Parts: sequence; structure tokens; C-alpha cells
Amino acid sequence: MQEELQQLRTQFERELAQIASLQELEQFRQRHLVRRGTLGQLRERFRQLPAEQKPIVGRLLHELEQFVQQRYQALQRSLQERAEEQLRFDLWLPGRRSFLGGRHPIQQVLDEIVAIFTRLGFQVAEGPDIEDDEHNFTALNFPPEHPARDMQDTFFLTPDRQWLLRTHTSPVQIRLMRALRPPIRAIVPGRVYRNEEITPRSLAEFHQVEGLVVDRSVSFTELKGVLVAFAQAFYGPGTEYRFRPSFFPFTEPSAEMDIRCFLCQGTGCRVCKGNGWLEICGCGMVHPAVLRNGGIDPEEFLGYAFGMGIERIALLRLGLDDIRLLYQNDLRILRQCR
Ligand SMILES: [Zn+2]
Repeated sequence: MQEELQQLRTQFERELAQIASLQELEQFRQRHLVRRGTLGQLRERFRQLPAEQKPIVGRLLHELEQFVQQRYQALQRSLQERAEEQLRFDLWLPGRRSFLGGRHPIQQVLDEIVAIFTRLGFQVAEGPDIEDDEHNFTALNFPPEHPARDMQDTFFLTPDRQWLLRTHTSPVQIRLMRALRPPIRAIVPGRVYRNEEITPRSLAEFHQVEGLVVDRSVSFTELKGVLVAFAQAFYGPGTEYRFRPSFFPFTEPSAEMDIRCFLCQGTGCRVCKGNGWLEICGCGMVHPAVLRNGGIDPEEFLGYAFGMGIERIALLRLGLDDIRLLYQNDLRILRQCR
């Protein structure tokens, strides 16, 4: 039996060396380590040995059992670790698709516009969404009976109509003039609110970018130069443009800048309403009364201002014709914007 125990040790060693999985290890256990397995049967035979053989064989048997148990447990630990490792790093699993978040199309357009004007030497300024009548209307030269003050256009916050949600970013012009001494050269991105019906073409909440320059010698020519430089940078070099006379209470003279419709190349389409031009920007020389309201002497300083809506630009860029789509957080649309 001593020889048999010696051979078994060699056999166990060989078998254990070939085990590569927990499943194979379990088969080994069933074969040898359970009560009716190889070792169990050996113990049975040991009990029937003559008393004088028992001390020697008993020691050998005990050694064999210890050897097998230790090797079994060590192998089990390392196989379990390897299995867990594979769960964590299975190089053969197909990758999980993930989508990186991106900037909203409106934020992208705002960022690009701000970047272009920053290169042209403008500082970025911001103002509060909640304004008073003074900053939003009166100081900007809106006469008391102006239709923009009507309930239908403005969200008033107090019954006396002194507090409201700003209807444009222009009140920041007054804040800048009152806070800074010229030269002022600022760009103002922001959110504005109007009491409008929500339709494919209008929302009650949207974005504008406002620009203001105040200095000793600024001119309408410089204003045009800045806006043309912007249009070439934003819409592409060679973009055709035109200025049309317009009216705003806070600028005089006032103009509207159009660019050649890039969807139809000027032949006329639904987006440009058939006339081949797209309005992109209102502008003008700051009205002397507005300069005075900002605490700046119109005899000494001149200013120009401009403003543009952001949503329409984002729609044109995405080729969409319903402004509401920009606010529905539909991933099919958002994923088109990088
Ligand atoms: Zn067109």
C-alpha cells in the first residue's frame, strides 16, 4: 500500500497540473476527494490493515491527504481569481456603444459668435434676465406708448409693470455705459423673453447677442466693417451682404443687415420667403438720448450697437424649419450637432 500511495501522489500531481477550469477542478474533487472517492476508499482500506502497518501507512496517507488538500485549495483560489478577472476584463466582449455629450446647437452658435467678436477686440458682458422698466425700455428711448410695452409682448412680473423679464439684451447697453467709462467694446450673449404664441417660427424664450461700442471717433462705416468681418468669418468668405434702413428706438440711424440666402444662392426659396436674402442683424448708431441716459456725453462720444437672434441661425445651420425642435431635447437632432 505504501507504493500505491506513492504512485497516487504522482498521479494527483499530474492530474492537478492539467486542470484549467473550475469545472475540471470540480470533476477532480468528485473523483478523489469525496467520501466515496479515491481517498475515501483508501481510508476504508486503512482501517482494515493489520495494527503493525498502521503507524507507517497512516502517516503516509495523512501526508498524501494534506498534499492533495493544499494543492486543491491553492488551485481553486487561483482559478476563481482568474474567472473574476475575466468578468472584469473580457477582451472579447463586443464594446458597449456610448455617446459623448455635446454642446447644444444654440450654445455652439453663441460660442462661435462670441469667439469671432472676441478676436475683433470685444469683451464679453452679461446682465440679469429680470430687468426693470427703466433699463429695458425708458433709458433705451422707448416712448411711453410704445407697443413693445404692451402686455402682449412683455412678461411683466409686478402689477405696476416696473419689473419684467427682459425682452432683449439691449438693457445691458445701459448697464455697461453706467458702469464703465469709454472706450467700451462689448458683446452680450443672453436669454430674452417675449409673450408670444409658441409656433414653428416663434418661442416665448430665446437668445440674442448684442454688441456695443462707445468711443470718441466711431462711425457707421466702422459698424459696417465690423459686421461684414463677422459675416465673412461666420457665414464664409465672400458672403454677399446688404444694409437696409430700419428703425429702432435706441439707434439713429438704424439699419438691418441681410446676407445672400445660402440655401438657394439667392434664387429664392421658402426660407428666404422667395426674395433671396436673409435678415441676420439689426444695428445702428447709438441714439444720443440713450448715450445721455447711460451717463455719457453725446457731444464727446459716439456709439454703435447691433443685435442678432441665435435660434434662427441654429435652425438654418441644422436645416430645420421648426424652432420648437431646438428645445425638445430630441437626441436624433442633438446628435447631428457633433
Ligand atoms: Zn433662399
